[in-house]
Amino acid sequence: MMQPQSTDTRSKALVDPFGRTITYLRLSVTDRCDLRCTYCMPERMKFLPRADLLTLEELERLVRAFMRRGVKKLRLTGGEPLLRKDVSALISRLGKDVYSGALEEMTVTTNGAQLAKYASALADAGVKRINVSLDTLDPKKFEQVTRRAVLHDVLTGIETAQRYGISIKLNVVALKDLNEKEIPSIILWAHQRGIDVSLIEIMPMGEIDANRLEQYLPLSSVKDRLEKDWTLTPLAYRTGGPSRYVKVEETSGRIGFITPLTQNFCDGCNRVRLTCTGRLYMCLGQDDAFDFRTLMRNGASDNDIDDAILAAISHKPKGHDFTITRECSSPSVSRQMSVTGG
Ligand code: SAM
Ligand code: SF4
Repeated sequence: MMQPQSTDTRSKALVDPFGRTITYLRLSVTDRCDLRCTYCMPERMKFLPRADLLTLEELERLVRAFMRRGVKKLRLTGGEPLLRKDVSALISRLGKDVYSGALEEMTVTTNGAQLAKYASALADAGVKRINVSLDTLDPKKFEQVTRRAVLHDVLTGIETAQRYGISIKLNVVALKDLNEKEIPSIILWAHQRGIDVSLIEIMPMGEIDANRLEQYLPLSSVKDRLEKDWTLTPLAYRTGGPSRYVKVEETSGRIGFITPLTQNFCDGCNRVRLTCTGRLYMCLGQDDAFDFRTLMRNGASDNDIDDAILAAISHKPKGHDFTITRECSSPSVSRQMSVTGG
């Protein structure tokens, strides 16, 4: 565990050892989830004890400490962020910073199952865009991949959020056999509704009940296939995340490619991730973390927290070492994606 260093640089932005300025915080507000996506977690997932979770006040205090250090973008994620009981209060409190301009943007990544209930609160808090994860439009396959039969709720959630003026991006994990053939029709469905799509390569994080090698579908092959039917024009457009975008000329919609395996994107990383227990991960694909919960519960001042943030950022690694091959299909890190969120 890293120790905070006393510094004299309180006004400085967060710049890591590789010259990358950190402006984006992803906050996992819970590790719990109402789905059990087969590539994300086992059916009998062991969730963290509730007592370990930071309170709303502690989460907010940490977010504000990062904002003082130049963080401008915040994404609420999980687990399923909309499952946390007091999430509306957090959204509304942080929404004030969106309205004041202290935060440029607050976004959410959700599986959409609870979205219809929360769309209005999100819109009221100034959330302008969200990511909804949806890997298939086929109810049977949806149940196969998420182990829950709630596709209808997700689709209703998407419609409701759009009605409240929230722009949606669909996160689609490319899955061999499961949605390999369906990806073009998911893209068409989305583009017809004004929804961009981010295709994601599976990352080897945490133990699951399946073999990731059997699920892994490289996006290089998906792209080759899409190019047989469509003209894909590379775009300079970025949303602050790792997606590299193309425009589909035939639909005028965008597709983002998130390619941790086939094309490493760590050079431009501007992000760090805080878990619901106050652990700050400087990299999604590495284990090094700083424990802010202990620091805060030992009576840390705001300056102590500032110093600890600086110290943590000075340990941000160059990048992840994800690989999925026949020789190496075991997890690169032991925690599930649901601990730090996407
Ligand atoms: N539950 C919310 C959801 O599904 O949108 C937020 C958390 S989820 C961990 C965030 C994103 O990570 C989702 O788009 C999900 O598909 C993706 N994901 C989960 N496990 C993954 C893995 N092992 N590799 C790649 N993406 C993963
Ligand atoms: Fe839950 Fe999201 Fe993981 Fe699916 S990907 S199990 S919805 S946290």
